[in-house]
Amino acid sequence: EMAHFALFFNQGQCCASGSRTFVHESVYDEFVEKAKARALRRTVGDPFKAGIEQGPQIDSKQFEKIMRYIRSGVESGATLESGGERFGKERSRVMWRFADLLEDHNDQIAALETWDNGKPYEQAAKVEFLETWKSFLYTNSSGWADKIHGLTIPADGLHHVQTLHEPIGVAGQIIPWNFPLLMYAWKVGPALACGNTVILKTAEQTPLSALHAGLPPGVLNVVSGYGPTAGAALASHMDVNKLAFTGSTETGKIVIQLAEKSNLKPVTLELGGKSPFIVCEDANVDEAVELAHFSLFFNQGQCCCAGSHTYVHERIYDEFVEKAKARALKRVVGDPFKAGTEQGPQIDSEKFEKILRYIRSGVDNGATLETGGERFGTGGYFIKPTVFSNVQDDMLKAQDEIFGPVQSILKFKDLDEVIRRANASNCGLAAGVFTQNIDTANTLTRALRVGTVWINCFDVFDAAIPFGGYKMSGNGREKGIYCLQNYLQVKAVVSPLKNPAW
Ligand code: NAD
Repeated sequence: EMAHFALFFNQGQCCASGSRTFVHESVYDEFVEKAKARALRRTVGDPFKAGIEQGPQIDSKQFEKIMRYIRSGVESGATLESGGERFGKERSRVMWRFADLLEDHNDQIAALETWDNGKPYEQAAKVEFLETWKSFLYTNSSGWADKIHGLTIPADGLHHVQTLHEPIGVAGQIIPWNFPLLMYAWKVGPALACGNTVILKTAEQTPLSALHAGLPPGVLNVVSGYGPTAGAALASHMDVNKLAFTGSTETGKIVIQLAEKSNLKPVTLELGGKSPFIVCEDANVDEAVELAHFSLFFNQGQCCCAGSHTYVHERIYDEFVEKAKARALKRVVGDPFKAGTEQGPQIDSEKFEKILRYIRSGVDNGATLETGGERFGTGGYFIKPTVFSNVQDDMLKAQDEIFGPVQSILKFKDLDEVIRRANASNCGLAAGVFTQNIDTANTLTRALRVGTVWINCFDVFDAAIPFGGYKMSGNGREKGIYCLQNYLQVKAVVSPLKNPAW
């Protein structure tokens, strides 16, 4: 194999090619037979086609020269075993092409996303699509696919020790409906970059955008189907070597059990959150109001990391509530294909009803409904942007994520108190911190038990920044260099060093 490669690589046009293959007589016949068989298997043809090992020679002059050498070999009595006539960082190249195709089909894919999910087209085309595309470029071809390698490790004794970073095999992946395209990119990109093949199950509500992909057959397989059937089959399949899941904490617990009961496949989980958005007394209130609004209402409030618990210092609480209400009243709700629309419908009737139930329970428990609190219009699953003030921790404690356009504003007195209350959650996905004091920012950054802290910003999602949760928000990290660990296994290779002088 190595002799074949050493010679045939680059159409045999390498200055260092192994052009003279010396073989010991004891293995000569076997070697020749196998070298011939390997040469016969070599794929020659269109160099743009996947799987092709050998393209044409550089020009007619070189081509004719090689043919003359072959004829002279035959005439001089050498045995022609095979050939003698006319005929990459491949993964990385394929994935570059994939990212280019995504770019070419931006409008179409964004429209599919809005049809499927109801999110404003402008947000699908600009925010979600752009992040998806950047994620493919970063994680794959231009990023990691050709830079995955092990280490050489000094160890006791006369041994050469190295690690190989190998793909796990078949990666099963299950994604939700809230960011169908982006979740697809975060999952598929690193798995393919590390050399795995993928079986991806999309959410039943949003099957379309992922079906629009094109990669070599068998490399990326998309299954549309329901969770308890298609999703569970993937999680419990004996031939799936790894499972990556994004969805609710409840379902996360189910899939991890299915993995354990089948073949103990490693599972990474990206689950729900109840993220604190902490506004300190020295914060710029107008900026904090705008970002708190964005952090909660973006994507119809259907973000795993939404700033759902807005903690505001008591000294600025009343001003903040008033401005948050005014901002919510200005929010443009309606047809997601219309320019300027900020908020479309919720994903389906089940979630729509669940959100309205949470709103009723907020009112029943004594929180102050500042604005919204009911459906918007008469048709579709639209909900008026809703703001609650005077929310107490125990009102939010029992509930899971509202996952809708409902902002809950809580009051706090000092840092220790807000840290304790924010950390009391069983989730730990993200947090927003608003302060102009570097010490306060540093204190909160280190004290909060969450996977991401945004200081004076929110939802900044560069493809290079790792994302994932503490506690019941999951394990493992997506994006950045950290995501590769989910899709590789490390093999240690040890061999004796016979000569101590080495
Ligand atoms: P869900 O758990 O109901 O569904 C998610 C996926 O799991 C879907 O594809 C679904 O078909 C599948 N599924 C459902 N039951 C299954 C089963 N028994 N076996 C295998 N698969 C099954 O979640 P959802 O409510 O549709 O999605 C929203 C949730 O996802 C929220 O909790 C949100 O916070 C979370 N989320 C988390 C992140 C993150 O990165 N942490 C990102 C987006 C969404």
